[in-house]
Amino acid sequence: MDINDNTIIQNYSNGVYKDPASGNWIDNYEPASGAIYGKIPNSNAQDIQEAVAFAKTAFTSWSTTTIDERSRILLKIADGIENRLQELAEAESRDNGKPVSLAKSVDIPRAASNFRFFGHAITQFASESHESVGLQAINFTLRKPIGVVGCISPWNLPLYLFTWKIAPAIAAGNCVIAKPSEVTPMTAFLLGEICTEAGLPPGVLNIMQGLGTTTGQAILEHPDIKAISFTGGTKTGEHIARTCAPKFKKLSLELGGKNPNIIFADCDYDRMLDTTVRSSFANQGQICLCGSRIFVERPLYEKFKKDFVARVKELIVAHPASAKANLGALVSKSHLEKVQSYIAQAPGEGGTILYGGNQVIVEGYENGYYLEPTVIEVQSNRCKLNQEEIFGPVVTIMPFDTEEDVLGYANDVTYGLSATLWTKDLNRTMRMSNAIQAGIVWVNTWMMRDLRTPFGGVKASGVGREGGFEALRFFTEAKNVCIKY
Ligand code: NAD
Repeated sequence: MDINDNTIIQNYSNGVYKDPASGNWIDNYEPASGAIYGKIPNSNAQDIQEAVAFAKTAFTSWSTTTIDERSRILLKIADGIENRLQELAEAESRDNGKPVSLAKSVDIPRAASNFRFFGHAITQFASESHESVGLQAINFTLRKPIGVVGCISPWNLPLYLFTWKIAPAIAAGNCVIAKPSEVTPMTAFLLGEICTEAGLPPGVLNIMQGLGTTTGQAILEHPDIKAISFTGGTKTGEHIARTCAPKFKKLSLELGGKNPNIIFADCDYDRMLDTTVRSSFANQGQICLCGSRIFVERPLYEKFKKDFVARVKELIVAHPASAKANLGALVSKSHLEKVQSYIAQAPGEGGTILYGGNQVIVEGYENGYYLEPTVIEVQSNRCKLNQEEIFGPVVTIMPFDTEEDVLGYANDVTYGLSATLWTKDLNRTMRMSNAIQAGIVWVNTWMMRDLRTPFGGVKASGVGREGGFEALRFFTEAKNVCIKY
């Protein structure tokens, strides 16, 4: 596919690319330059209705396609993604602003892994049976695909999170109406072609482009879409829950985070420092798992502050295609402005900017959305900078005195997605891991992923778990059959 300065993205519906019936289009921006480089459909209820009809037709045969055959196709999609690694990485970077090097080493390989993993996982997915001893009865549980399901994903890890939903949904025998973020539509668009080449039957996956309020809303409201798997902001999640709950749709919600990174004085210092730079600023800090609140045990605090700021100063903000870029551009102008508004509030909130805070002008790309990695020292965990999700290259740091104090700070927030802990003390590791309110705790590492493990958050970070068999359970309905003999 030729991606140029006027790339027209289309919907992928029933195995072919199509313009939207509505005739409505929206601009697609390149964050690195701030320029428009094409347009995408703003699909409406009519487009969704058409795609659902195709999906329903395809469901009859896809839901009865053998596990081996489904698995074979998923593995071919994985190969197809890998074969186009460079093209997809460049497309992701252009759409999102992330360094090409990051898209090439993380986003695109992970998208391939998602298909490969669920292509294998479905062959191992078994259902239960229960013998009712003494009653001469046996129960067995059928795991039936739900039917047509909706998958809605955000802009920060576009193909990575899009495929994290689609792969288990189709592996389990469902047909999918999928909507990528309107901010990053490109790699989802390219996925259609890869699926066709891999032999995925028409109608099994329908990729519908457009705004959340138009296309997304039409997906939520369609009566024949029986489940919604959503990743995105907590406010959108609330709206989705309000819309779908009265319609009794099955819901999986992966939402925002405000994750603590807790550093004890006994940690492996060098490993902690390297990883903390990454967990703060990878993908311009736009990962739901980034450790945006750093708490450091007081005896280590001054040393950490000096060394961390020195390391952050070395990070290079550059055009995402540059091999030396540690940080590229933020995803959009409005997002850049949102992040800047938090930085501007820092002094009034008792915060001291230790480094960064300014927009970066990259020569030749003066209208791009670049921002310095920013470190802010805060006085209290109750300040807005520590309570609200900023979702950009901004971290706060603050000292703590006791395990009890830091546990209080960690949990004193509406979110509960992930937490990172740095210590060599096993007992403390166990105490803290048990008590931290989060769906994921990393100890002496960050963002190390085993795709078999449950993934998701508590409190305002979401409902439900993705990953491994959890995802296959979400995308199936359990039906118990009881036989008396
Ligand atoms: P967002 O909520 O604005 O958008 C996410 C998706 O929802 C997009 O595709 C959007 O078009 C769609 N949407 C918006 N309004 C809708 C509506 N009314 N009906 C249906 N769909 C609608 O989020 P975003 O700004 O794209 O992504 C950033 C957020 O995602 C952050 O809060 C981040 O923490 C969160 N996130 C969470 C995880 C996780 O696994 N928990 C992972 C990545 C990102």
